[in-house]
Amino acid sequence: MYIFVMIMTFLLGTILMSFLGMLVYRMPVIMEWRETTGPHPTDIFSRSRCEYCGRVIPFIFIIPLFGYFFCRGRCYYCKDKVSLVYPFMELLGGIIFVGFFAWLGLSGIVSATLVIVLIFIAWMDFNETWIPLVVTLPLFWVGLCFSYYQSDANARVMGAALGFFVSYLSMAVISYFKKKDVVAGGDIALITCAGAWLGIDIMPEFLILVAVIFIIHAIPYRIKGEMYVPMGPAICLGFVVCIVQQLIS
Ligand SMILES: [Zn+2]
Repeated sequence: MYIFVMIMTFLLGTILMSFLGMLVYRMPVIMEWRETTGPHPTDIFSRSRCEYCGRVIPFIFIIPLFGYFFCRGRCYYCKDKVSLVYPFMELLGGIIFVGFFAWLGLSGIVSATLVIVLIFIAWMDFNETWIPLVVTLPLFWVGLCFSYYQSDANARVMGAALGFFVSYLSMAVISYFKKKDVVAGGDIALITCAGAWLGIDIMPEFLILVAVIFIIHAIPYRIKGEMYVPMGPAICLGFVVCIVQQLIS
């Protein structure tokens, strides 16, 4: 029975990640952030298509994780390679679900879902340099009202306020000195979310952690001469580290 539950939990994780992965490619067009995503359908109900030949992928090959192996990593029609990103992310989703479930039982699924949503946000920001408000806004309210990691409502409100003001003010100061607008609404919204979920006590540590991860993350971009570095992945990683820390303590 335990093995069966674990397998179902694993599959749930892969399905959730597969669905969110689909949104990473379709949402920019649905929300009119981008004009086109190439062969990707522009609504969430259409069947997935091959990135190269554009043909509809047969059902058996879109099964999360296993579809990749059934089609041996190639399109059924044109034989072009399927990106490894999809099976890797789906596997990661399954591992996160099983890991948190084995660690914390049913309540672990709450944390696992939050972690997967944060991976989705990081993935989206990495691909599109965009953190959609349609995701961060509900995330903020759920955290503020029901956070599992901080039972004191005052601490959650103050955490969110601190996250908002620190991120906004630091970006405003940098904008002033660089004489260039670097205020990023999506990043501020995500940091505010983290404050609502984590509470004020852990916010100083969270903010320092995010700054350090962001600086390290920015190094390869700077070497390549790119000026814009997405901050979402650093915020999400810092958020996940703080979640795990709250669960351990
Ligand atoms: Zn194809």
